[in-house]
Amino acid sequence: MAELASESVSPGTGLRLTGVSAAYRREQVLHELDLDVARGELLVVLGPSGAGKSTLLRVVAGLQPATTGRVVIGDRDVTALRPGRRNVSMVFQSYALFPHLTALDNITFGLEVRDTPRAAARDRATAAATAVGCAHLLGRRPGQLSGGERQRVALARALVREPDLFLLDEPLSNLDLELRTETRGELKALHSRLGVTTVHVTHDQTEALVLADRIAVLRDGRLEQLGTPDEIWRTPATLFVARFVGSPAMNVVPSGGPFTPAGAPAVPAGSRFGFRSEAVRLTTGDGTDGTVERVDVVGEDAYAYLRLAGGDRIVARMPAAARPAAGATVRATVGWADTHVFGADGRRVTVA
Ligand code: ADP
Ligand code: MG
Repeated sequence: MAELASESVSPGTGLRLTGVSAAYRREQVLHELDLDVARGELLVVLGPSGAGKSTLLRVVAGLQPATTGRVVIGDRDVTALRPGRRNVSMVFQSYALFPHLTALDNITFGLEVRDTPRAAARDRATAAATAVGCAHLLGRRPGQLSGGERQRVALARALVREPDLFLLDEPLSNLDLELRTETRGELKALHSRLGVTTVHVTHDQTEALVLADRIAVLRDGRLEQLGTPDEIWRTPATLFVARFVGSPAMNVVPSGGPFTPAGAPAVPAGSRFGFRSEAVRLTTGDGTDGTVERVDVVGEDAYAYLRLAGGDRIVARMPAAARPAAGATVRATVGWADTHVFGADGRRVTVA
């Protein structure tokens, strides 16, 4: 059987975008993006629907032109190359399998076009299918496969071409929750086994935190922040990142209002304080009074939605056993060490 592992890693391969823009008709949707992906890195591009994630992948794959800037894969500037010359494999959200071909023929399709002998193509397809756990499905057509199985076939088809770069466009979004969690783990294991530079697109912040070496947060065609999952979580660069990553979204209250973190120094006028639900403590000591509007219990955790004196609304997480009753009057506080400060422009402010 053909081996996939080492030969699919091309020395020097990574991805570099410099000043890349893209547009549909006159409407610009990517704005002079700069982005470096290290060789062998798994970069997750995270952003809401419409942020330009798919467009970014299409530009890298050569399916859509960059209106400005350069795309470099490894040491090759591919900006002017057609898709077939870029040695990139893309898995589309829809999987895009040929319905009249078996899984095997779907996987080998690109190889036969490229003149690989049939027996060799079959061996490589079997190796790729084994790597993603669908070798037993090779004789079936897409109509005879579940969503998760189709997804594996699409991955095997991408894998078999031994690309310099994998581009995965929301590859888990058509799977139900359990399968998504399982396949997410398999994708991560597959990536560390093969070491192929990968750009994985998702709108799911949990998926990004779990999978990524680094996360690039994209908003309206611009990069909000690029960092490790830890950096994105602990030091969000903007209010947008702070609230997009984490569930429930980070609490935000204005500075100078009734709710002030315990021990907060002076902050610039117009700043906002951000803190996650788990940082809020209910207390009988110093704090801000509020009313419990609603309590959601999720297994061992409870989320209490509070309306504070002065009108700010925040959510507090606590063990389910320690939850207050809906309608109760409580007092809430948060420590300065757990507080993020964002300026009037939404950017993180470092306060001594
Ligand atoms: P994402 O993948 O992050 O959801 P897309 O890259 O698909 O975002 O889209 C980015 C923006 O470009 C959106 O505003 C979208 O409406 C627009 N767009 C996407 N595809 C087309 C198209 N074929 N024609 C015109 N506008 C498009
Ligand atoms: Mg998309």
